[in-house]
Amino acid sequence: MNILVINCGSSSVKYQLIDMDKRMTLAKGNVSRIGMSGAVLTHKPFDRPETKVTGEMLDHIVAIEYVIAILLSKNHGVIKTKSDIHAVGHRVVHGGERFTGSVLIDGNVLREIRQLIDLAPLHNPHNLRGINACKKNLPGVPQVAVFDTAFHHLMPPEAYIYGLPYVMYKKHGIRRYGFHGMSHRFVSERAAEILEKPYDSLKITTCHLGNGASITAINHGVSVDTSMGFTPLEGLLMGTRTGDLDPAVILHIMGREELSLHEANTLMNKHSGLSGISGVSSDMREVIEAGNDGHTNAALAFNIYCYRLKKYIGAYTAAMGGLDCIVFTAGIGENSPQVREQTCKGLAFLGVEIDNKKNNEAIGIESVISKDNADIKVIVIPTNEELVIATDTKKLVENRN
Ligand code: AMP
Repeated sequence: MNILVINCGSSSVKYQLIDMDKRMTLAKGNVSRIGMSGAVLTHKPFDRPETKVTGEMLDHIVAIEYVIAILLSKNHGVIKTKSDIHAVGHRVVHGGERFTGSVLIDGNVLREIRQLIDLAPLHNPHNLRGINACKKNLPGVPQVAVFDTAFHHLMPPEAYIYGLPYVMYKKHGIRRYGFHGMSHRFVSERAAEILEKPYDSLKITTCHLGNGASITAINHGVSVDTSMGFTPLEGLLMGTRTGDLDPAVILHIMGREELSLHEANTLMNKHSGLSGISGVSSDMREVIEAGNDGHTNAALAFNIYCYRLKKYIGAYTAAMGGLDCIVFTAGIGENSPQVREQTCKGLAFLGVEIDNKKNNEAIGIESVISKDNADIKVIVIPTNEELVIATDTKKLVENRN
């Protein structure tokens, strides 16, 4: 079964066509600048070099048209006819409390995802656009929605209710939802396989450290707490986001700097984090490089990043009453020995001890980097959210009656 995995942003579409029988990605790519001049489709078949196509792509419908055309094309294609696309799996950011797992998309599901726009105004509308674009381009092909929030749906109320009047939860759905669920699920399941232990016997803390970053406590196979909250702003320090912040600070700054709601939102989401503190970059590579060259604020940003991560690992160990394994994943987690070393430094009292040689060699590859005799295993696992989407899609499509 070939599954087209779609991840839509406001002006972008990322895609992968996965052959689930062979467990291989036939092609992947992305479209950027949708709705702007000079939209670009970058496409990489598994067996040929990457190619780029530019064109006028006024909306997501046209962008998906381009994607399907290149998947079918003589020189760069990997399938013969549209009917070789057996199902489409969509990443949908917010499933609210309604969606606790992946679902086949029908009229009701579409309506309910639309109702959740209030909770995720920056994401769900684009996800819906992607679903509609695929409906138009691939009529009759089953489509599945896989939610970023779903993995966290079993968190206990003490982890998801904020210290606000309870009525805010009841009236406006204000609570911790958590994000990056597909990634936390994928790497934690993989960790259990690597450790050759039943998934539901382990206490695992997964650190998804990409442009956005979150950490999750997975106790006996259930996400019991996670650092992102009502939105993906809370928790760890990120490339351009504040992470945890006293909410009164933002009210204070809004008054002093006479910021509008929109400006305050932009300040917290786009100008803070590694970028805001270092003044150098939101990219951890550049922050580390500048810090090594003596840039004081870059070094400070790096230290804050790792300190906060360490603090969460401690908190989640307490929340779970123990810890068997820490997983590092996503751009920074998979590629930065410096972040992993600095984060785990001083955690020997818990049983966390990194093997420096293994850590330095683990760049973008799966590897156990803890010392052989350490009580807690530390593992680097490249994430694969697309495979989670494709796996759920296949299962739902096969099981429909
Ligand atoms: P992602 O969102 O998972 O694609 O992660 C992107 C981020 O990973 C980039 O912004 C970088 O900060 C980070 N990254 C990628 N490679 C490295 C590396 N070798 N060292 C440190 N950070 C890296």
